[in-house]
Amino acid sequence: MDRSVYRRVILKISGEGFAPEGGRGLAMESIVRIAQEVREALQNGVQIALVLGGGNILRGAQFITQGSHIHEATAHYMGMLATVMNALAMQDALESLGCSTRVMTAIKMDGVAEPYIRRRALRHLEKGRVVILAAGTGSPFVTTDTAAAQRALELDASILLKATRVDGVYSSDPEKDPNAILYTHLSYDDVLSQHLRVMDQEAITKCQDYDMPVRVFNFRVPGNIKSAVRGENVGTLIGRES
Ligand code: UDP
Repeated sequence: MDRSVYRRVILKISGEGFAPEGGRGLAMESIVRIAQEVREALQNGVQIALVLGGGNILRGAQFITQGSHIHEATAHYMGMLATVMNALAMQDALESLGCSTRVMTAIKMDGVAEPYIRRRALRHLEKGRVVILAAGTGSPFVTTDTAAAQRALELDASILLKATRVDGVYSSDPEKDPNAILYTHLSYDDVLSQHLRVMDQEAITKCQDYDMPVRVFNFRVPGNIKSAVRGENVGTLIGRES
């Protein structure tokens, strides 16, 4: 069996990964494809906790319009619930492939999943279960990137792997600028000073404060999740040095 260089990783997957190509909502074939990659990655002897986004269903920010009848905090709670739907779908996809899993939610939901308790999450990971962390941090006004950074620190992860729909961090938006440059390495300071859109400022600052490396890569490229989990050079690695 090939081994990963890491003992434990947090794999953050944007909700976009679960939507049908170019659409919104949940496409089971997209989820199963990612689940297959997670299973392959797990076979490298690494502990994996997933933090799932909810942007394929709902983001709190989409309700921040003038005259909106919904409080922004309410909208963020709705976004957190969207991540729970993704987590349940991912759980069944992984279990159908023979992986043992636990969903843990940051908002208590008896009858749906376990509450997130750090020490219990660690026990599940040590037993080789994929722990799916849902409902973000449980608090509004942040995104699941912040949740991923937070969990990476408290679960003593070796790295935060951020699976997204672009190949890594670019000098400008590659979907708008054909001359955008893809970086292979960046420092936290580069990300912050150049205002590179990698993840929330709060999330990247937290990683910088505690020296948690972050790798940003494209989940749509087959084999990339496994490569990232094994510590191979895909996408952009963010750390203390650029
Ligand atoms: N959210 C929140 N607190 C959290 C995590 C998420 O309020 O700790 C809300 C927020 O509105 C966010 C939505 O849930 O927009 C869905 O998460 P996110 O946008 O991070 O999903 P992704 O873009 O990764 O699919």
